Amino acid sequence: MTEGLPDPRIPAGPLADAWRRTREGLPLISPLRKGQMDVLVVGTGLAGASAAATLAQQGYRVTVLSFHDSPRRAHSVAAQGGINAARSVAVDGDSVSRLFADTLKGGDFRAREAGCQRLAEISSGIIDQCVAQGVPFAREYGGSLATRSFGGALVSRTFYARGQTGQQLLYGAYQALMRQVELGRVQLLTRRDVLELITVDGVARGVVARHLLSGELEVHTARTVLLCTGGYSNVYFLSTNALKSNTSAIWRAHRKGALFANPCFTQIHPTCIPSGDVFQSKLTLMSESLRNDGRVWLPKNPGESRQPDAIPEAERDYFLERLYPTYGNMTPRDVASRRARELCNAGRGVGPGGRSVYLDLTDAIRAEGKDAIAARYGNLMTMYERISGDDPYKKPMRIYPAPHYTMGGLWVDYHLMSSIPGLFVLGEANYSEHGANRLGASALMQGLADGYFIAPSTVTAWLAGNPAQDVATDHPACREALETTRRRISQLINSAGNTPVDGFHRELGSVMIDRCGISRHADGLREGLEQVKTLEKRFEAEVRVPGETSGPNAELEKALRVKDFFGLAQLMLRDALAREESCGAHFREEHQSDEGEARRDDVNFAHIAAWGHNTNGEPIRYSEPLQFTALQPSTRSYK
Ligand SMILES: Cc1cc2nc3c(=O)[nH]c(=O)nc-3n(C[C@H](O)[C@H](O)[C@H](O)COP(=O)(O)OP(=O)(O)OC[C@H]3O[C@@H](n4cnc5c(N)ncnc54)[C@H](O)[C@@H]3O)c2cc1C
Repeated sequence: MTEGLPDPRIPAGPLADAWRRTREGLPLISPLRKGQMDVLVVGTGLAGASAAATLAQQGYRVTVLSFHDSPRRAHSVAAQGGINAARSVAVDGDSVSRLFADTLKGGDFRAREAGCQRLAEISSGIIDQCVAQGVPFAREYGGSLATRSFGGALVSRTFYARGQTGQQLLYGAYQALMRQVELGRVQLLTRRDVLELITVDGVARGVVARHLLSGELEVHTARTVLLCTGGYSNVYFLSTNALKSNTSAIWRAHRKGALFANPCFTQIHPTCIPSGDVFQSKLTLMSESLRNDGRVWLPKNPGESRQPDAIPEAERDYFLERLYPTYGNMTPRDVASRRARELCNAGRGVGPGGRSVYLDLTDAIRAEGKDAIAARYGNLMTMYERISGDDPYKKPMRIYPAPHYTMGGLWVDYHLMSSIPGLFVLGEANYSEHGANRLGASALMQGLADGYFIAPSTVTAWLAGNPAQDVATDHPACREALETTRRRISQLINSAGNTPVDGFHRELGSVMIDRCGISRHADGLREGLEQVKTLEKRFEAEVRVPGETSGPNAELEKALRVKDFFGLAQLMLRDALAREESCGAHFREEHQSDEGEARRDDVNFAHIAAWGHNTNGEPIRYSEPLQFTALQPSTRSYK
């Protein structure tokens, strides 16, 4: 139903300069007045650090909270491959309209076209901003910025800094943030775990955070709150995300009234190092950029036992090149992951348990030499060797799909405001331009577009239009949020069980990857929902959280996160069940073509599903219809 859904505030009129028109029409606030207004930013990844630095530069008094001990530890630091931008530096004719079209098509037409257009327009400015900050992007011999290709695009538009692009971009944003800290405009509060949102008369006005060293609960209030808390792939337990990546801040906001959009749209990345044993708690990504030079293949014969170099060319199946001659190894992630899994399920996989495929750089090394490949991917090659024990210059890497990125997140309108007035959501935490499948190298672009360019304008517009008094930290709404948080903590600490949190998290992850992973079907989703409900009840009765509420308590931190993952997992399963079509990474086995490709249902599902929390019963599913004017939905083909 659409009734009850807030206005997404999509600009009317021509798409091409819609953002410029919108921005120029937004009200402003004088720098003097800004200095009297507090803004809360949760998270110091690319989205949070860039937003906080820019808002402080504009003059606001900004408080930044992060559970890390330093902003530089935010999970963005792990991003490897690159950041997209339409700058047409290469000679392949890239343009804003091409990036727009690739993004909308890559997301399988389940994103707003106005948002995709804005992202493509802003992309070039992001590179300028980062270069000005000193981000050491790779350069050609003549000094111009170098690019490479990523999946789902036929042009070379990905800017990179070896295999450490996220780290370098984050250092740029970090420097900008620390400059504001130094100037006294940003108060940086590290080791604060945000556990509850505070709303006053339905408007977001603060958060409750637990100090991770003292265990004390703190109340922070402000005129507006920005959640930049990253993605929730760790609902699968094993993922490429940092161990502490979580859903808590956005999940608590959801329970306070923020709609959650398309929670089941989760990306399983095709090129990760396969899991080694059952006690493993983290998976490692091998950047998709390796597919620029690496060829993905499997032996043609099931049960092949020879070493890869002993298998002749004629007995190899370069399956992505065979199935998708146009895009070959650069097919988007959802397609590449599905194909790898199908072949492994058919007994063609290699390595322990037949759960991997080869990613082979031999041809590229032969053609260009080891040094050229090392210059492009050196740190990735070293990382692979350290983890697997094999030298990827000599032996093909073994890779397998793993949970990686979440396209779903809190619903936001064109201004990045959630359905709770005054609550903005940026970066991976929101549901925005990636639709049902994010193309590689576009998350960094989106996080920085949100933080450096969009939120600073739209947050100001909100504050200008909604003057408000400061909220005292002993306001009844703050006391109530504090009390709710205290109760949740004491329930966990006082649980009489004997099972450590990780055991439950691992079990939850295994249900989720099985029922709501690369492919899904109705019966599995229904069973998964029951399994998660049962597991949650067991968690409540049987979990053991040792230690005290005061002082550091890593098990308590985990327990709070896993408790929230249980709620989210159920919503993901419901969402996947309700979406009776296949689109992007959401592959419903019932809805596929004869060739095993996703079959979309544009008549019934060309919408964003936005779920509302319902204290008295099942969550409510709203839908925001998607309009396409510049590019009509077409069947996504990479053949
Ligand atoms: C291994 C890997 C490689 C990747 N490579 C690329 C790439 O090459 N190109 C690309 O475009 N994308 C890539 N991505 C995706 C991209 O890195 C992320 O989508 C992006 O960095 C997310 O940025 P963010 O600012 O939204 O969140 P994050 O960087 O995850 O930051 C979240 C912040 O929120 C804080 N936080 C979270 N919860 C709480 C809480 N409850 N209380 C207080 N603080 C909290 C954390 O401390 C942190 O500061 C990659 C992802 C992975 C996992």
